[in-house]
Amino acid sequence: HHIIKSSISATSSKIGSCSRNTRTLSAVRWNSTNVATVDDEGLVVQSFRSKSHIPIFNLCLGGNEPRLIAAATKQLNTLPFYHSFWNRTTKPSLDLARELLGMFTSNEMAKVFFTNSGSDANDTQVKLVWYYNNALGRPNKKKIIARTKSYHGSTLISASLSGLPALHQHFDLPTPFVLHTDCPHYWRYHLPGETEEEFSTRLATNLENLILKEGPETIAAFIAEPVMGAGGVILPPKTYFEKIQAVVKKYDILFIADEVICGFGRLGTMFGCDKYDIKPDLVTIAKALSSAYMPIGAVLVSPKVADVIYSQSNKLGTFSHGFTYSGHPVACAVALETLKIYQDRNILDQVNRISPTFQDGVKAFSSSPIVGEIRGTGLISGTEFTDNKSPHELFPPEWKIGAYFGAQCEKHGMLVRVAGDSIMMSPPFIMTSNEVDELVSKYGKALKDTERKVEE
Ligand code: PLP
Repeated sequence: HHIIKSSISATSSKIGSCSRNTRTLSAVRWNSTNVATVDDEGLVVQSFRSKSHIPIFNLCLGGNEPRLIAAATKQLNTLPFYHSFWNRTTKPSLDLARELLGMFTSNEMAKVFFTNSGSDANDTQVKLVWYYNNALGRPNKKKIIARTKSYHGSTLISASLSGLPALHQHFDLPTPFVLHTDCPHYWRYHLPGETEEEFSTRLATNLENLILKEGPETIAAFIAEPVMGAGGVILPPKTYFEKIQAVVKKYDILFIADEVICGFGRLGTMFGCDKYDIKPDLVTIAKALSSAYMPIGAVLVSPKVADVIYSQSNKLGTFSHGFTYSGHPVACAVALETLKIYQDRNILDQVNRISPTFQDGVKAFSSSPIVGEIRGTGLISGTEFTDNKSPHELFPPEWKIGAYFGAQCEKHGMLVRVAGDSIMMSPPFIMTSNEVDELVSKYGKALKDTERKVEE
């Protein structure tokens, strides 16, 4: 099993880890809590318990959804593969594209490009933006502005866009055409006495100053997750996106919304753009699109961009870009069925029914002396451990508070995502209120264990 151990797999879960010790440990823990079945080597081999909590924001319908298994099997029996090159494609991919264009309503979308993941979808975004500006005769408008603490993927370009230093070091990243502006984390970064609105104004001014310093004629696009996920579940402060969008628009800069985590109900709205009134020119989706049953991502392209690319006056020729498995019929059939299930089960109602119990339940622990901030909305939640309730008083890194909390959660039969002294949760959409109560109770037990450890 030659799986390269990556920082992501090492911090977020033990699956895929190379270390025999780690694997054996996880095997014992996981078996005893019945979260998954693992083989002698500690590899996960069988279906997760139907509603287990996989900490990477994607298994939204749980691990045992017969309709998705049936959709994949049916498609495998009908047409296991055909490509989507040279104006050909398959019915599932066409049907899925149509469905997605109808579902995304915060701004009109005209075209869909299918990818295998969120990372290659964000790389595709950059190529689309460059091609668009080249077609408009402004080849110098190339730079992309992203934000500190964002996560947009792990390929060279998407890792460059990401604002997490660990993804850059040792790889000569970010590439020079990527710039980073402020992370909109009010609790951590606001000045004394500054309101959320004032904080948002300051960040929008900083963005504008960056654009002016670089030259607006060199800035092609701004990319943002509506709620930052892997960076620690960071919600936009009041008026943030309104002010940021005004700046971006003023300088004719395209807005790319990375909906890889927020899309399809995680925040209680179909897309994060609906929740924060974002009108993007380009949208990235993945994860919940297939509820993780097949690898698939996509880019939605607005008429503003598509019209330039497809215009008669575009002399550039073909947009030469595509993956062997773009629009893979089995992945598309599974994604289509996923979207049908979301509709049939009124998934937004379901998320909005259980999320208050989830959010209030977890936030009730905010007064813990080791908790700096608990934040979240819908079915996404982040906890940051700091001393004295202060964003600036961090625990010594060698105490590994986040990892300790994560280990206690595992001991109680729950998986959370750990990133330094932050932990994140993204439970499946289909949880019952009893299961939410169970989650909150396990969180509380792990927190007590961690408080005791800190006191020692
Ligand atoms: N964008 C966001 C917001 C993500 O959270 C992720 C993955 O976590 C990605 C992009 C990259 O997606 P993938 O891991 O499918 O390449």
